[in-house]
Amino acid sequence: MKRVLITGAAGFLGSHLCDRFIAEGFNVIGMDNLITGDLKNIEHLFPLERFEFHHHDVSKFVHISGNLDYILHFASPASPIDYLKIPIQTLKVGSLGTLNLLGLAKEKSARILVASTSEVYGDPLVHPQNEDYYGNVSPIGPRGVYDEAKRFMESITMAYHRHHGLDTRIVRIFNTYGSRMRLNDGRVVPAFIGQALRGEDLTVFGDGSQTRSFTYIDDQVEGIYRLLMSDYVEPINIGNPDETTILEFAEEIIKLTGTDQKIIFKPLPKDDPLQRQPDITRAREILGWEPKVHRFEGLKIVYEYFKSLSQDELYQAHR
Ligand code: NAD
Ligand code: UDP
Repeated sequence: MKRVLITGAAGFLGSHLCDRFIAEGFNVIGMDNLITGDLKNIEHLFPLERFEFHHHDVSKFVHISGNLDYILHFASPASPIDYLKIPIQTLKVGSLGTLNLLGLAKEKSARILVASTSEVYGDPLVHPQNEDYYGNVSPIGPRGVYDEAKRFMESITMAYHRHHGLDTRIVRIFNTYGSRMRLNDGRVVPAFIGQALRGEDLTVFGDGSQTRSFTYIDDQVEGIYRLLMSDYVEPINIGNPDETTILEFAEEIIKLTGTDQKIIFKPLPKDDPLQRQPDITRAREILGWEPKVHRFEGLKIVYEYFKSLSQDELYQAHR
């Protein structure tokens, strides 16, 4: 039976990946230091013999006994308010963490897939963004801790591939949403739905003309799974090209939730990208992948999920 290590397993994406690999019949090792994740996301897997959990910081040396076929490196704070709060750990997990996992992949002769991001394109001057675009990132800006760590991650991953012949994959993930996101993680989907559920006004940053393209979790997991099983080593964008302004998005959430609250405007955070839309030609051609779930459909599912949380969870203070 194939054995896979998933880092960031207690987080949003990592926990859904654990579910998928368990469903595909793998033995799954989840690893996480719980800095932004929550064991609640994977506790349903604890009784399974095919699942084991290692509480470990991957920026420190990573050891796994026995064989390993695949590694998926998803450990990293991913929300702007998280990585602005813990900038050094963010840089470390993208650099030292990636280095440790590449070393482990080499020792075990395992295939490794690393979770990169649309943030490698920064505030893009090319629209939509295809994988050949080099990006527009400020190395010293507040978001640089995340963007540059991920750019380094891609760079060292390609170096291990070219220099050591390591079997590597790089996914560039665009804004993804779904159940198990923390309501208070600051990302726009839980932020707006949380505000609507608490009866607060929806906070649009800037004038709301900046755009994002939102991908439903099941589509994202399918894209990642197909990439891992493919033989393609260059980066691939996985995201839904259906683009919206943040203002329109806030209006959609008001309609979906039926809240009486209004939209209020707050300052735009520094270096907040003005537009983002994936060009998914490569994913379509190489992986035969494209998103299936429309934003309206996905948001309904996520709204039901957030509604089912307890009052405590709804009001818990940000860490
Ligand atoms: P998340 O915060 O829910 O999950 C990240 C997990 O990594 C958490 O459980 C956290 O505790 C763990 N972690 C962080 N540092 C660690 C360390 N040093 N050692 C061990 N565990 C550590 O975030 P997410 O949205 O699930 O993102 C997962 C990955 O996907 C990240 O690498 C992120 O950069 C990437 N990504 C996500 C999105 C998105 O829209 N969700 C977009 C682009 C890229
Ligand atoms: N945003 C907003 N109000 C919020 C949270 C976010 O207007 O309460 C905006 C944010 O400025 C950005 C967009 O929504 O333009 C997406 O933000 P998120 O943090 O979800 O992702 P990222 O900026 O990393 O794409």
